[in-house]
Amino acid sequence: QFSDIPVVRHVGYIEVNTAFQNDVSPLKVDLIYGTFKSEDGSNYILPVVKRAENMVVNDTLSHDYLSPAGIESFSKLACRLLLGDIENLWNDGKVFGIQSIGGTGALKIGAEFLAQHMNCTTVYYPDPSWEMHGSIFSFSGFQKKIQYRYMNRETIEIDFEGFCEDISNASVDSVVILHACGHNPSGLDLSKEQWRTVAEIMKERKLIPFFDIAYQGIASGDIEEDTWAVRHFHSEGIEFLCAQSFSKMFTIYNERVGNLMIVQKSGHNIESLKIHFERIIRSIYSSPPNHGARTILQILSNPKLYDEWSSSFKAIAARIIELRKALRKALEEEVAFKKWNHITDQKGMFIFLNLTDSQVEYLRNFHHIYMINCGRVNVSGLNFTNISYVAKAINDTLRK
Ligand code: PMP
Repeated sequence: QFSDIPVVRHVGYIEVNTAFQNDVSPLKVDLIYGTFKSEDGSNYILPVVKRAENMVVNDTLSHDYLSPAGIESFSKLACRLLLGDIENLWNDGKVFGIQSIGGTGALKIGAEFLAQHMNCTTVYYPDPSWEMHGSIFSFSGFQKKIQYRYMNRETIEIDFEGFCEDISNASVDSVVILHACGHNPSGLDLSKEQWRTVAEIMKERKLIPFFDIAYQGIASGDIEEDTWAVRHFHSEGIEFLCAQSFSKMFTIYNERVGNLMIVQKSGHNIESLKIHFERIIRSIYSSPPNHGARTILQILSNPKLYDEWSSSFKAIAARIIELRKALRKALEEEVAFKKWNHITDQKGMFIFLNLTDSQVEYLRNFHHIYMINCGRVNVSGLNFTNISYVAKAINDTLRK
């Protein structure tokens, strides 16, 4: 009977968000989800996205099904955002893309493919990482989930030696998830030199890289620079997958737009490979939705809209950098006994405060400040009105 199913409750984001919604205090601060907010705390949508959406609505003549792999021209432009000029690679079948339901959907169909067709059973992902990596792969049949060392929690720095040691011990055909930029939640990205070493190890150990890129353009402020690692692996002749999320890049979270890019050495089997992916998709959701991908296609294929998008997107990235500086300054003034340089050293949408569970709970219960465990802060939930309140509250929490 259904009633025999063990009782569970929400953990992580959903639980914190429910508590935030139920909090009636005017002081409450939402630092939970990775979504962009305006200075007044409201949800922000890029104006160019709104315009492109209206164009899509006006141009829509039918709601016919898309093919399981989605809109090919969308996927091609998505892959181009990652690798630059791919015309020949695309025509040769060495690079191809599948429209997906957000970055999450790209990870899911990639995981299913690796389990079913590459007989992969082990996945490595960073400690810490985005909370869904482990479950997506275990729900897809991976028997072993191993977290490789990534961050030293004492120093809040990359544990590069530990990382290399762990993946060097991985068995052949293990899948290794790599955050391409703006690591979630630590904000710590590898240097180019470190990426070169990782590529060498992966090649030598015959591991399968699975990039996850959800913050392109937000880490360094430059869309191309943030794909450096992906491009390097490609230039090294390594085959890999890359799950791309457009949720943040286009402030289009609930339209669920993503792309799975597949890079392979030879394209001779491209047609049959696509059929394998299509079979996976048909068995899960048959075919993807249209509106969000069509909106992004509109922007990526229209030079005027593209320019508008890239400059307003740069402004978002610049705002994030300003907010980081402001929080660091406020904390240096309030909590002088601790170092806060990591706040401006970290990249991307999140600040990793490295708090204990009870400190996170204290901030929530006594100061109405909401973030997920370990103290991950969505930078754009901060603004010049609440920063000093947040810094004072952190000071109070650390002194308890
Ligand atoms: N990967 C990472 C690292 C993420 O942070 C996120 C979203 N927070 C995703 C994947 C999923 O992206 P989407 O919302 O587009 O499914």
